[in-house]
This record gives sequence, structure tokens and C-alpha cells, in this order.
Amino acid sequence: MSELKRGSSGYDEARELAVWNQLRPERFPDLIVQAETEDDVIRAVKEAKAAGRKVTVRSGGHSWSGHHLRDGTTLVDLSKMNSVISVDADAMTAVAEPGCYGTAVCAALDEHSLFFPIGHCKGVGIGGYLLQGGYGWNGRALGPACSSIEAIDVVTADGELVRASETENPDLFWAARGSGPGFFGVVVRFHLKVYPKSDTVANGVFVYPIELLEEVFTWLHQIGPKVGIEMELMALIHNGFEGDKEIIVSGPVFADSEDRAREVMSILETCPVLDQAKGAFPYGPITVADLTEAVYSTYPDNHRYCVDNIWTHAPAEDLIPGIKRIAETLPDGSSIRGALGLE
Ligand SMILES: Cc1cc2nc3c(=O)[nH]c(=O)nc-3n(C[C@H](O)[C@H](O)[C@H](O)COP(=O)(O)OP(=O)(O)OC[C@H]3O[C@@H](n4cnc5c(N)ncnc54)[C@H](O)[C@@H]3O)c2cc1C
Repeated sequence: MSELKRGSSGYDEARELAVWNQLRPERFPDLIVQAETEDDVIRAVKEAKAAGRKVTVRSGGHSWSGHHLRDGTTLVDLSKMNSVISVDADAMTAVAEPGCYGTAVCAALDEHSLFFPIGHCKGVGIGGYLLQGGYGWNGRALGPACSSIEAIDVVTADGELVRASETENPDLFWAARGSGPGFFGVVVRFHLKVYPKSDTVANGVFVYPIELLEEVFTWLHQIGPKVGIEMELMALIHNGFEGDKEIIVSGPVFADSEDRAREVMSILETCPVLDQAKGAFPYGPITVADLTEAVYSTYPDNHRYCVDNIWTHAPAEDLIPGIKRIAETLPDGSSIRGALGLE
């Protein structure tokens, strides 16, 4: 365990590494404790309590807003507690530490032909992901990832290590799932329910010129409710490698068979302007590791990120003007292209 006081050597680096987003808040913990065991966490919490300091927690560090950088606190850094402790293929369970990346959990399960609905992007830690709900691969079929937590081991604000599940400390268990950065304990271990690996994982990708925005987004809005539960329909507007704005439509599928995967993916070929697509890759097998790598390629490290979201049931005609405005005002993409070494 390392303890880094503000101003000491190694503190600045540890603080910077605690938040992946380079747009990080100018807030400074008094102390950063790099825990390696649950005993380190217990000690850090008890010492913070004795000193009258609040405690914040970092697992994978992929919080967009850096919730855990707070002035005057002890930051308990769990990034070194990153082991998949066990996989029990008979019981269909796994135990993992909070600093694990989802991809590490998935890789360990893959050896047993098992699966867990991890986040879409490489680098997302399971600590924050599971506490905030967790919308992961095959999440439409398997539900929010936090619904597949069977138990957690938690260090409470008093520095006591307890188990929380449906039967032990159920209030704490209820509070953890969905609390995100608001959780009032430090989770040191997750006990997970895991699933059989899908027989077929595949993706289809279609690229449309930006001039077809209205046709493509109106169609996407129509097919959304009809898409098979195995598919995650996605669309994004971005700057293509040649600098021209384009629309990417893709639909990764987790299915019981190749036939079913092809059947679900056939909806992507119902677009009324399909014949004007710049690129069409209707079907291709893919691994979860490659899917997470592909998503990661759109979020290069060492960049400043802003995000905004809307959840809406508005009809397409109400949404199209706003989507057009997004397309018109999209920055030129030079920052991302530079990060990918393309200019
Ligand atoms: C590029 C990118 C892609 C993403 N993709 C997805 C996605 O596909 N699906 C999805 O659902 N989310 C996604 N997210 C959001 C992500 O799941 C959350 O930001 C999540 O909090 C990240 O977990 P972490 O452990 O890496 O983060 P951290 O920054 O370490 O943790 C976030 C917050 O959770 C709390 N916390 C973390 N660990 C613990 C713990 N062990 N005990 C108590 N409290 C803790 C702390 O308050 C901390 O500030 C993505 C984020 C990024 C940046």
C-alpha cells in the first residue's frame, strides 16, 4: 500500500491517473491511498474517520466527471485491486475485485465459455460500472449488469468489512445497485452471476452519406421498436477518414445460432436508401474483445471529453432538426484523427 500526501512525490501522477478524462476537475484530495488488499482499505477508512476526512473511491477511473477528486478527502485508489479471483463454471458465478476492467472479466469467463454483460468500451472498470447500473453487451437480453450482482463485500464508513446480498445486509445491497458515485461504502469484491457465452456474436455495419440524414434517422426511429432483443442498434454521426461527415449504422448481435443472428440482422437491410450506402457490411462474426476494442478506438486516451445525453420518446420529425444541427456543428475531427495517427 502507498500513501501519497498532497505535495509529496508521486501525488500529482496518482491524482492525474485517477481520472481517465483529461478534462479533470481542479480538486485535490489531501491523501491518496493506493490499496492492494481489503485490509489496506479498512485501515484507510478508519484513519480518515479518525482524522475527520471524508473518503472517496476510485476503481477503473472511467468516471466522466471525476466524482472522486474532492478537496480535503482521502481518495482510496483501488486500481491495484484488479484480479478476477475465481470463476465457478458449475455454479455459474465469478468473484472479481473492483479495479478489474470489464474486458479482464470477460477474458477470464471466455476460457469457460461463459459471459458477463460488461461495458462496451475497453478500460471501463467494473467498480464504478456495476454500482451505477451497468449497460453492457447483450444488456437488452440480460438486463442492467447490477442485476447480475449476487453479493458484494463492503467496507462500511466505520471501517467494518461486511457481506451484502439479498439475505445479508439487504438494505446495503439494495442501496449499492444503482447508487453510482453516491454509494456510502467501499466495495472490495463483487460476486457475480454469469451466463453461457452466446453461440454467435456478429455485427453488421452500414455507412451513409450525411445528405441522407433525414431518411436514415426517420427509418432508424421506425425500426427501433421492432429490433430483436439480441441486437443493440446503434447510429452515430462522425467525420470519416477522408474528412467528410457520415452516418454509421451498426447492430451487434448476441444470438443462439448463426441463423438467428442473420435473421435479426436482416432488419438493417430494410433502410429505404440502402442502395445509396457508401459502405455495406451486412454480416460478420466478431468477438466481444474486438467489439470493445472497436468502441475504444473512438475514445482515444489522453483527450478531453464532454458528453451530453437525452432520453426521448419524441417522434422522428421533432428530432430531425436537432440531429441536423448536431451534424452541421460537428467539429472537424482533427483531434481524434491525430490521436489515431492518421494525420
Ligand atoms: C469511454 C467510456 C465508455 C463507457 N461505456 C459504458 C458502457 O458501455 N456502459 C455503461 O454502463 N457505462 C459506460 N461508461 C460509464 C462507466 O461505466 C462509468 O463512468 C463508471 O463509473 C466507470 O467505472 P470505473 O470503475 O472505471 O470508474 P471510477 O471513475 O473509478 O468510479 C466512478 C465512481 O464510482 C464510485 N466507485 C467506484 N468504485 C467504487 C467502489 N469499489 N466502491 C464504492 N464506490 C466506488 C466512485 O464514486 C467513483 O467516483 C463508459 C465510460 C467511459 C469513459
